[in-house]
Amino acid sequence: MPMPKDRGRKRIPRKTPGGKQAFLIEKGKRGIAACAACKNQLQGTTTKRNVAKSMRTPSRLFGGNMCAKCTEKVISIAALVESNELRTADVDLKYREKVKQLVGEK
Ligand SMILES: [Zn+2]
Repeated sequence: MPMPKDRGRKRIPRKTPGGKQAFLIEKGKRGIAACAACKNQLQGTTTKRNVAKSMRTPSRLFGGNMCAKCTEKVISIAALVESNELRTADVDLKYREKVKQLVGEK
């Protein structure tokens, strides 16, 4: 029985090493990575699998999740929140979750 997420996927018949008939479930296509805050397409990301290290998602803070500009903003806002110059509740909604992550609030 396929898992619910695999029900719509294409099944390819294959034989197992033991000679039994089994189905290989085709992997879905990856979507294009977009910034969590501004929704722009992320640079330095790929939809392909098994690519060279230089083509993989950046390993920095929020790499593959937010663009460099938004990351910069979030870091500066988080610094203001930590020094009690700004409350988390006053932070723009699109940055709030990430600021909370950086500051360590829940
Ligand atoms: Zn962005």
